[in-house]
Amino acid sequence: MDLDKLLNKTELSKEEIVYLLELEKKEDIQKLFNKADEIRSKHCGDEVHLRGVIEFSNYCSQHCMYCGLREENFSIKRYRMTAEEIIETAKHISNLGIKTIVLQSGQDGYYDTDMISFIIYSIKQSTDVAISLSLGERGFDEYKAWKIAGADRYLLKQESTNPKLYSIYHCSQSLFERLNHIKYLKSIGFQIGSGNIIGLPLQTINDIADDIISLKEFDVDMAAIGPFIPSDFTPYQNKKPGSVELTLKSMAVTRLVLKNVHIPSTTALDTLDEFGREKGLSVGANVVMPNFTPHPYREQYIIYKNKRGVKDNPDAAYNKLQARIQTIGRKLSNTKGHSYKNSLTTH
Ligand code: SF4
Repeated sequence: MDLDKLLNKTELSKEEIVYLLELEKKEDIQKLFNKADEIRSKHCGDEVHLRGVIEFSNYCSQHCMYCGLREENFSIKRYRMTAEEIIETAKHISNLGIKTIVLQSGQDGYYDTDMISFIIYSIKQSTDVAISLSLGERGFDEYKAWKIAGADRYLLKQESTNPKLYSIYHCSQSLFERLNHIKYLKSIGFQIGSGNIIGLPLQTINDIADDIISLKEFDVDMAAIGPFIPSDFTPYQNKKPGSVELTLKSMAVTRLVLKNVHIPSTTALDTLDEFGREKGLSVGANVVMPNFTPHPYREQYIIYKNKRGVKDNPDAAYNKLQARIQTIGRKLSNTKGHSYKNSLTTH
């Protein structure tokens, strides 16, 4: 295939996506990265959007093979932040000028519909922020209640669109069910974040291409692509981590295929590579998600091992992150960074 022609096409077939993911020559890979960066700049501008993350509970009722928070992992100390702690942390993030708060936890039914609604409503009343929820699969009525309470976005990763792999990774949970949740969330007006993990055991390049096509079909507002990192005390603890290069290529191809979506440069990428954040931002990413989970909880949210920054003071880590972004010549956004697809929202 002619790479230059391919990079200038507006639509890519699955075969072409696979070809790009399999590029091996350094100069070809660089061309792909440059194109992704150009498309990011054209469709999203040069600002980097910030999402302040609060990991408020590491309890989880699920059994994902790769995740350190799976219910069967008895080696980690579990915690739950109180509603007051969560709201105070959100206010602190807002005072720093960050306009999106991500409320993230394992799938933890302790926080019922009303409690989450109360937290959302209280944050919305006292700050001017957008709220993203990342709480796993919950009831459809709960999603509706949280939308009414003021939540703007929901992050629910498809993880793998190969039904066989999905059911292996998630101990027989169904991909069909997961995709139904994503569809429902979209139908009631949430901006949708989804995504995939690169380098999970048994995954092929074909699978990654299918995953990228699925993100396009679901018309997601944010696509998070991060590398697999093994976590101790999980069935995959001795598996090889995902490749940084393949993750970067997958991010770049996602930018080429989806164009006007948010793509974060993930902490997982930054954990595997000293300059992971910067590299991600130069291959199509336009979002970073600084972690504001307070001590002592942040050390206990161990979805994978050696997670970067867990011992740091949250504010100091945020200052460092800002400096790193500015070093590569990118500006931090001071807006909510809503979906590029929704003309009714202000960015
Ligand atoms: S990936 Fe999410 S749902 Fe699965 S075990 Fe980890 S926290 Fe729970």
